[in-house]
Amino acid sequence: MIPISTVQLGSDVERAVLEVLRSGHLAQGAKVAEFEREFAALCGVPHAVAVSNGSIALTAALQGLGLGAGDEVLTSPFTFIATVNAVLATGARVRFADIRADDFALDPSAVKDAVTGSTKVLMPVHLFGQTADMDPLLAVAADHGLRLVEDAAQAHGAGYRGRTAGSFGVGCFSFYATKNLTTGEGGMITTADDELADRLRVLRNQGMRARYQYEMVGHNYRMTDLAAAVGLPQLARYPEQVRRRRANADRLTERLRDVPGLVVPEVLPGREHVWHQYTVLVTEDAAVDRDALGAGLAERGVGSGIYYPKLAHEYPAYAEHPLVEVADTPVAARIARQCLALPVHAALTDDEVERVADAVRDVLS
Ligand SMILES: *Cc1c(COP(=O)(O)O)cnc(C)c1O
Repeated sequence: MIPISTVQLGSDVERAVLEVLRSGHLAQGAKVAEFEREFAALCGVPHAVAVSNGSIALTAALQGLGLGAGDEVLTSPFTFIATVNAVLATGARVRFADIRADDFALDPSAVKDAVTGSTKVLMPVHLFGQTADMDPLLAVAADHGLRLVEDAAQAHGAGYRGRTAGSFGVGCFSFYATKNLTTGEGGMITTADDELADRLRVLRNQGMRARYQYEMVGHNYRMTDLAAAVGLPQLARYPEQVRRRRANADRLTERLRDVPGLVVPEVLPGREHVWHQYTVLVTEDAAVDRDALGAGLAERGVGSGIYYPKLAHEYPAYAEHPLVEVADTPVAARIARQCLALPVHAALTDDEVERVADAVRDVLS
């Protein structure tokens, strides 16, 4: 079976983890500080604050901005549920706007229509490794005095007109096992705002600046040095890993672009895709529907994934939640029915990429 994702860590990671184990310093320390410096450099930002996971990165970013009851966050309903859970954890309200079919991210014109007097934060999700259309989103944020929090959990190093995901507002990243960069569990917040970075460092450490000197109500959001040691060697290899993901995506697109009823993913002008997922759409014109394509691929030894089968507000826990505004988002609803992700990860051999493309063509012929 060709898996949709794999974890392949080198002997340098094993050595780095052993070094930390033997040092006796396991909690947040020098390795976390080094990982933060290197990750800030990847994003082109002055500050990166490591936290325990991507969901906490989102929650802490919103808390750091002072968000709470009575405030509202505008985001995409076509996302991993952590985006929504983070907002609700702060006591703020969630409002959804529709997405675009070409980048699967917030549609700036839909966002403009959805802003209310209570909206405080605009939270685009850079889905599958491509950023949202940031210039028009930044313009809406500026017009309405909104802070921008980027859910960049899937977009480490993704580019937009010379800038990098996480450098437009407050960037929130995940290092979960399936992400392009992994520490098993882990997260990072990036920002150019000196005061916010300082606040986040105190917030993640029980609100302490120095031991038992509590400046605010905080929490334990810390990353371990063990996790940072797993992440650091991957940063050095990351540009090469992205080149391989890109080559795999280009080859899949070359082989699949002419299949009737199949829409291959686009790289929009000015954007650098890091291919966390290669997501095709299976339209009504295809020989079989999305679910049958997934089943046919499995029979042929090819893994695939549905990200995401439903919109956030289609689950009762959210639809009935008093702080969730259910919205009509027809583009997102269609994409949730048609999307299927194919293997694109850096560990695929050229032969495996061909097998993925052959299997798709075979099922849809
Ligand atoms: C993975 C992910 C998160 C949450 O990250 P965790 O590290 O799993 O908590 C948030 N948003 C999106 C879009 C994700 O893909």
